[in-house]
Amino acid sequence: MTYVFATKNKGKLKEIKEIIKGINIISMEDAGCDIEIEETGATFSENALIKARAVCEYTGLPALSDDSGLCIDFLSGAPGVLSARFLGEHTPYSEKNAHILELLKDVKTEHRKAQFVCAVAYAAPNGESAAFEGVVEGIIAEKPEGEGGFGYDPIFYVPEYRMTTAQMALELKNEISHRGKALRKMYEYIIKSF
Ligand code: IMP
Repeated sequence: MTYVFATKNKGKLKEIKEIIKGINIISMEDAGCDIEIEETGATFSENALIKARAVCEYTGLPALSDDSGLCIDFLSGAPGVLSARFLGEHTPYSEKNAHILELLKDVKTEHRKAQFVCAVAYAAPNGESAAFEGVVEGIIAEKPEGEGGFGYDPIFYVPEYRMTTAQMALELKNEISHRGKALRKMYEYIIKSF
């Protein structure tokens, strides 16, 4: 069985294929699907389901999708589902991260808690759908550290590993990350339903 992953981001697809190796996943491009999908949901799961259902409907193939973001306790969960659009979609992450550090200036460690959250959704042509969430707990660092990863990784410090997710080897990040956890739950679900 082939699944279309509802993303146009090649880097993300590569990461996803690395995490779930047991099933055949193709990109929207490979499936000839170039639709724009508006993320109008209030939660990560809602957005992921919107994307998976749209791609499934367009291609006639079972579809997977993810939606993720950074939730900061001190900012009442912001930027949350708006993580990609925070301060503008095309603003460099160095600026977005610097802005967050400024918002949390002088905030003590115990109030700097944050989570990376990821929802992975599945939609099948017979109308079946499902969504699973994965979360990784961390704190907002005092300054950006690390060159790896992407987005908010340089300011997301994981106390258990004493490093930011930008300082982790990709294998470690995939093992502990919100995306890794949600994808593995989805994988279990899919292989059980064969
Ligand atoms: P999405 O691609 O619409 O799910 O948007 C995800 C947003 O959350 C982007 O702005 C990413 O920068 C941020 N994000 C999600 N996961 C991660 C991660 O693992 N590291 C850093 N930033 C992330």
